Amino acid sequence: MRRLLLAAALSAALCGPAFAQATDVEALAATVDAKVQAWRRDIHQHPELGNRETRTAALVAEHLRALGLEDVRTGIATTGVTAVLRGGKPGPRIAIRADMDALPVTERSGLPFESKATATFRGETVGVMHACGHDAHTGILMGVAEALASMKAELPGEVLFVFQPAEEGPPDGEEGGAEEMLAQGIFDAFKPEAVFGLHVFSTLNAGQVGWRSGPLMAASDRFNIVVKGRQTHGSRPWGGVDPIVAAADIIDTSQTIVSRRQNISKLPVVVSFGAIKGGIRYNIIPDEVELIGTIRTFDEGMRQAVFADLKNVAEKVAAAHGATVVAQVPDTKGNPVTVNHPGLTARVLPSLEKAVGARNVVEMDLTMGAEDFSFYANEVPGFFFFVGATPAGQDALKAPSNHSPEFFLDEQALKVGTRAMLQVALDYLHIE
Ligand SMILES: [Zn+2]
Ligand SMILES: [Zn+2]
Repeated sequence: MRRLLLAAALSAALCGPAFAQATDVEALAATVDAKVQAWRRDIHQHPELGNRETRTAALVAEHLRALGLEDVRTGIATTGVTAVLRGGKPGPRIAIRADMDALPVTERSGLPFESKATATFRGETVGVMHACGHDAHTGILMGVAEALASMKAELPGEVLFVFQPAEEGPPDGEEGGAEEMLAQGIFDAFKPEAVFGLHVFSTLNAGQVGWRSGPLMAASDRFNIVVKGRQTHGSRPWGGVDPIVAAADIIDTSQTIVSRRQNISKLPVVVSFGAIKGGIRYNIIPDEVELIGTIRTFDEGMRQAVFADLKNVAEKVAAAHGATVVAQVPDTKGNPVTVNHPGLTARVLPSLEKAVGARNVVEMDLTMGAEDFSFYANEVPGFFFFVGATPAGQDALKAPSNHSPEFFLDEQALKVGTRAMLQVALDYLHIE
């Protein structure tokens, strides 16, 4: 190690700055590992739903202030926190983002720091759990902030730390998440030239990181279609307009949107119906049927085309049955596609390989799940990567997935995530 540092120092003297090479990232990460573990366990035991992350946000803000970071802002998009680390040397501006919200899931992990928290969600009392691992993301970014702050004097450039609420979506009737953080001007006050984020993931083993250039995670949109007929006796269907048969026909014809109308050789598309609600009694044809579902796409053009197609199918098929339709496609603003900027990805990949070893860096398939990191990556070049959470030696594809009450994070993932993000940040800041 000493010889390596000497060589790096020499190359720095000969060829200009060799900042990241001269920094022992593994040793730097190790200085915060125990704290990251403690923060994550504490946050895990005290999970909070989207837009309700007051305790977590206070913990984060107190830490960032104690580190002496500048412009510590709180209460952004309800509970969001940002802060800036200004290095002692000139260099680029980057942003690193973590999310802080938990899910309405009752934990069944059996961990000593298992969550017993409950909250009210859509009028019901529910268990609350960090079933998506955002506790890990928050702990890791607190650690990354501390490690980078410890080398402030020699750090080139500036880092914006973004801790956002409600990645899983705000409560009904509220704004929240990445889009709202941006709407409240976090990139106006500090415009980064690149933004980075990570997510712990059950389908990779601890020790591994996953990446993909270009589209990585799907755009996710909800739809709501209400088919309106005219109620009548089940024995006299000709006396009314049957919305059940019309709805069935809409569901059936909708299958051709993916199979016949989209160029799925380019990128995949999914249209799924998640609920059908209508009717009350065996011999009454009801007035209306409600259909709700989700659309997943990887390209903005395809996304808009599927919206138009589904609306068209709903309206025209309903009309053929003499029914009418109110088709909200989409019914709320969804998450756009999460795209890893190809140039940035190529530049960052060697950092991941340095951090965890090339054999532990896995190129991912497209992920049909969505992320609101996409909003940041639509503003400036972004890179989002996955950190394996399932213990080494276990079949990661069979492990309880993110959002499961049995979702389990091997704490090795905390070390890997911290080290990888530090390496990515330091390498990026070094290269002019
Ligand atoms: Zn999630
Ligand atoms: Zn998540």
